[in-house]
Amino acid sequence: MRTARESKNGYVPLPAAFVERVGREVPGLVEALDGTEPPVSVRFNPAKPYTMPADDTDGQVAWAEVGETAYLARRPVFTTDPAFHGGAYYVQEAGSMFVGWLLRRCRDAGLLEADGKGLRVLDLCAAPGGKTTHLAAIVAPWGGIVIANEVIRPRAKTLAENVQKWGTDHVAVVSNDPAEFGERLPDFFDLVVIDAPCSGEGMFRKDFGARAEWSPENVLLCAARQRRIVSDAWATLRPGGILIYSTCTFNTVENEENVRWVAERLGGEVLTFDHLPEGIVPGKNADGPALGWHFYPHRVRSEGFFAAAIRKTAAFSSLAASSASKTTNSGKKRGATNSGLTPLSANELREVRRWVSTEALPAAGLEHFVTGGDGSVYGFSTALHEAVTTLLSGRFALLYSGVQLGELIRGSLKPAHALALYPGLNRQAIPVTELSETEALEYLRKGSSTTLLPPDRLAEGLNLVTFQQIPLGWVKRIGRRYNNLYPPAWRILHY
Ligand code: SAM
Repeated sequence: MRTARESKNGYVPLPAAFVERVGREVPGLVEALDGTEPPVSVRFNPAKPYTMPADDTDGQVAWAEVGETAYLARRPVFTTDPAFHGGAYYVQEAGSMFVGWLLRRCRDAGLLEADGKGLRVLDLCAAPGGKTTHLAAIVAPWGGIVIANEVIRPRAKTLAENVQKWGTDHVAVVSNDPAEFGERLPDFFDLVVIDAPCSGEGMFRKDFGARAEWSPENVLLCAARQRRIVSDAWATLRPGGILIYSTCTFNTVENEENVRWVAERLGGEVLTFDHLPEGIVPGKNADGPALGWHFYPHRVRSEGFFAAAIRKTAAFSSLAASSASKTTNSGKKRGATNSGLTPLSANELREVRRWVSTEALPAAGLEHFVTGGDGSVYGFSTALHEAVTTLLSGRFALLYSGVQLGELIRGSLKPAHALALYPGLNRQAIPVTELSETEALEYLRKGSSTTLLPPDRLAEGLNLVTFQQIPLGWVKRIGRRYNNLYPPAWRILHY
């Protein structure tokens, strides 16, 4: 008799070679992949207060902070929830949130002491932005910054969109090859997260496509590519800095063996921690402590995941840095004047500052305001401003950074969409209209004057529209009509 899952549309059996290996190595896993349903989990945005109805939730992720996450009682259609579009929460695999657990434990153990300049984090394989938004939320109160990189350009654009929705002021999105970080920014980052492209065995329960694509040969190709990515980027991690390496696959070739290879060949110490949440399985190591940690769907409420933390020891770095310093030094000499960022005049600054406030922020918020190469005004924290200047001098492909505030037209700011989504927006600067759920969905669908809401609900001119106090974007009223300014590329098509 077929199980309920086997009767599902598009069902693909687990690959025989996978079943043979895993059946031997991880008892109970195969049965879970075909016999149980995947959990759905979300991570809340600490900068956008929002309470999910209690009936919709079913407990919290054990390796996250209290109140940070929720499992959902059933899988909703997220497109129909305006709070999702407003960046109130991110839908993320529970196992992936372990990266946050590792970051916090490293910091608690004094392994990521910020030296006054704030923690610099590189999320090297970042799209669509699950780990980026998590890292950004954690390092914000510490004055840290996150450089989120995605080599595949269309995916990098989705990453930039998700970063804007999350509403950060301390994240920059770039689209570069990992080797360019190693070559042009030696010893720059305190923490590098490599959530590597992998053979995806951990997705076998919920994604039948991953089963269809899997082969033993592909596992080996993935493992080789992962080693290349780590070694290409290794020089960008400062000595003593930490690499968090993760995959969503089960096999030891892409996990433990790669972790051992990084430690032995590139020069690192694999970190271990006590008091791990129940059900997490230490990575195999015949002759020593755990080489990372596995998340198995039959042991924890999560799809498959693996993560390890490796502390960089010295030797490799100075070697790589000396060969790479030529590029970086020449970049640095050109400095900020060559970065394409132009400071604002005193009047312009006064106008721009009117739009921002630190009231709702965990950190200092925007401290530097500049006009970028696209003519838009951007705001940055001091640490991010420095990093972005360095990235531009090093000719990195910068897609988004800080907060895009808008364009100055005859001395007045015409606000950008990103400013509406930024928790540091000064709500006193602008009339605010709260929308019902139906109105909010119509707004996100980019509904027009006739379908959205009566014009009298809006003030003349620009209005911020919110759903449950979470900003969604701008509407401009001109007499009896108004323009829905939601970005056309982001509009929802079906609900
Ligand atoms: N960290 C992301 C998150 O939490 O949302 C998921 C990242 S996904 C597991 C791996 C990413 O690596 C993909 O976005 C993929 O485009 C990117 N990638 C693929 N090939 C790569 C390569 N050769 N170097 C760097 N990144 C690569």
